[in-house]
Amino acid sequence: MTYYDQHVHTYFSFDSQAQFEAYLAQTTHPFVTTEHLEMANPDDGGRDDAPDYAAYVAKLAALRQQVPNQLLRGIEVGYYAPKQAALSAYLAAGDYDLVLLSFHHDGQYDYQDKHFLTVPLRAHVEAYYDRMLAGLTAFDGADVLAHFDYGLRVLTVTPTQLIDWVGPTLKRILQTVIAKDMALEFNAKSAYQWDNLALYERVLPWYVQLGGTKVTLGSDAHTADKFETHFEDAKTILRAAGVTHLTTYRAHHAELEAL
Ligand SMILES: [Zn+2]
Ligand SMILES: [Zn+2]
Repeated sequence: MTYYDQHVHTYFSFDSQAQFEAYLAQTTHPFVTTEHLEMANPDDGGRDDAPDYAAYVAKLAALRQQVPNQLLRGIEVGYYAPKQAALSAYLAAGDYDLVLLSFHHDGQYDYQDKHFLTVPLRAHVEAYYDRMLAGLTAFDGADVLAHFDYGLRVLTVTPTQLIDWVGPTLKRILQTVIAKDMALEFNAKSAYQWDNLALYERVLPWYVQLGGTKVTLGSDAHTADKFETHFEDAKTILRAAGVTHLTTYRAHHAELEAL
């Protein structure tokens, strides 16, 4: 098994101090980081947070002289409709192996903000998935829909509530992922740190039933000790859900590996 983590952050992300070397000490496999591109970021005073691309490329070039791992380039796009043109322009100026698409904030609050503990739950869930479907439909150039449950991480929503409240929207999201030939991510941090495993167990078989074949597995590590955490647990869940392959990306090209 040569599968490797498809969701990793370093100090090129606004919310991580992790060093490449600390991850690379743990693996001989190819290695990719997916740094935050988060515009109008409420978790950072509304700033446009973007990786320093030239420094990122230079760091990878320097590391290639020091480690045997194949080093790939990735990014996690935090979609925000008013910034879509700027997000696309930033991406067009670089060259990536892997682009994750995420829905982290509504312009006012990051969805992990305690603010969302104070709003009506069902209306929030409906608004989150409406926003995800609209953004996913509008934005081209991403390889993977990351953590479909991000907007529920700080909340408690059961699989039954999810399907009752936003089933049709979620179905269209999964169909759009498939139509765009993207992958759906199993986010280990969401499943195991934020206790949303039941949502993944409900949605993954549905995705497979709709014809989805591309699934990535990501730790969403922001510190090196979280690298590839719970991957064996996750693989067991994925197999039970009917997922037969895991997907990695090079130059946006999906490579499937039997699970
Ligand atoms: Zn994220
Ligand atoms: Zn992330």
